[in-house]
Amino acid sequence: MQEIILVKYGEMALKGLNKAGFEDVLLKNIRRRLKRIGQFRYTKAQSTIYIVPEEEGISLDETLEQLQKIFGIAALCKALVCEKSFDSICERAPEYLEDALRGAKTFKVNAKRADKSFPMKSPEICAELGGLLLSKFPHLKVDVQNPEVTVTVEIRDTNAYVHAAKLPGAGGLPVGTSGKALLLLSGGIDSPVAGYMMAKRGVYISAIHFASPPYTSERARIKVETLAQKMAPYCGAVAFFCVPFTEIQEAIRSHCPEEFFTVIMRRLMMEIAQRIAAKENCLALVTGESVGQVASQTLQAIAATDAVSEIPVLRPLIGMDKTEIIAIARKIDTFDTSIQPYEDCCTVFTPKHPKVRPRLEDIARAQAAFDFSAMIDAAVEGTEIKLIRAE
Ligand code: ATP
Ligand code: MG
Repeated sequence: MQEIILVKYGEMALKGLNKAGFEDVLLKNIRRRLKRIGQFRYTKAQSTIYIVPEEEGISLDETLEQLQKIFGIAALCKALVCEKSFDSICERAPEYLEDALRGAKTFKVNAKRADKSFPMKSPEICAELGGLLLSKFPHLKVDVQNPEVTVTVEIRDTNAYVHAAKLPGAGGLPVGTSGKALLLLSGGIDSPVAGYMMAKRGVYISAIHFASPPYTSERARIKVETLAQKMAPYCGAVAFFCVPFTEIQEAIRSHCPEEFFTVIMRRLMMEIAQRIAAKENCLALVTGESVGQVASQTLQAIAATDAVSEIPVLRPLIGMDKTEIIAIARKIDTFDTSIQPYEDCCTVFTPKHPKVRPRLEDIARAQAAFDFSAMIDAAVEGTEIKLIRAE
């Protein structure tokens, strides 16, 4: 029995976008992801990509699992390859569909005839195959409005395909169709989720992390790299920038009022992130902030960090509750890593009484007590880069 995979991207996703560009990027992302599984042949027609295994022993279930993490795919399924004759379809479809139809109460048959020279018309195919399936599975009823299972028969150039159990795709837009952004990635729960959300909108994500050894450990950094690796099946390989931040934090501690530590630190993070973003052609920054979650995420504090950024700062979690964010973190399997108790540079030198509603001019004045520019240059200069791929 030959089986292939059909990937549907649906016209809806193409609204306002260049269709050819969208398809090319999606296909490139799929090829790259499936390379590790084996050799496949790819063709596309009518908002569908046909993925044909070209080696023995390829697990289609594993392939489907990988494909379900690729943005831009609306739905996907395995399909039986038949010869292009109605007899061949009738001979093989009932056995192939048995698993899908046994547990269902209602079904319908849907026929798509791309090859108009096929001797039967679509309604005829539906009626004949529907009748055959009813005779083989007498517990079933036909429901054309709201069937539990839709059996689809596609008559195409070289073959006919039969499929039933559609799986949901990851939705969104193919990563790379919306440009590139730089994610501020901490070891926490929120920022990996923020990266995932922007990748879903087609944004290619690079990540920047601020480390302050010896206050933050090597283990803490490895934890963040693990998070980037867990994001990679969704985001593609992640360019990971690690900024040496110790000197800057020590200078903040020595020269700035304690109540402004955190917000000044964030402003300096933004300045460095922007410099790296410019070098890497990233059009925006992304953070995991959500209004009111902690003292540094009041609207006033957000305004203070925004003020130093000349490029947009995207905050996809801004209106979300922690429980909603955690649900996504679990789904993308970053949660268990995020809750490992390693220190972050934000948790060293934290003020006892941070200013919850800092005024921009007070912050700017406090920060002006020291000229950080040489240190910023040094931090950018000393940034290490590493490409992190999916496991
Ligand atoms: P997270 O769970 O993402 O760490 P959080 O709720 O703990 O978020 P903060 O620690 O205040 O919030 O950080 C807010 C945002 O600042 C983070 O979501 C992240 O984008 C960025 N950030 C914080 N610490 C770092 C760091 N060490 N390196 C890079 N970005 C950071
Ligand atoms: Mg944090």
